[in-house]
Amino acid sequence: MDDHIERGGIPRKFECGAPTIMLESKTAQNPGRRFYRCGKIYGPNHVFMWLDEAHHEELGILGSQQAMMAKDLIEIKTEIGELKKDICEIIEFLESFRSNLQNRCSFVSFMY
Ligand SMILES: [Zn+2]
Repeated sequence: MDDHIERGGIPRKFECGAPTIMLESKTAQNPGRRFYRCGKIYGPNHVFMWLDEAHHEELGILGSQQAMMAKDLIEIKTEIGELKKDICEIIEFLESFRSNLQNRCSFVSFMY
């Protein structure tokens, strides 16, 4: 599958599999404007994208990815907090179990 069509943003590879290259326009319409295009062939079935547009799109993608990661991080922190509580409860249980066992052992040794 093609990364660029799937993801958008900066085109890194296109259908033909060739990595993209960055060049500078020398046309009268867009002098000095940089663009990405297929590193192999210039043509209708090969990627062409203005750098400013690609970067604008990339920033949008990165922004939404960051927002998702921030949401995930909050969930992970909550889960870690819950796990810590569970671990504390298990330790408390084990400690009380051990002290009960020790009391019984000392009681048994007192009896015999
Ligand atoms: Zn190509």
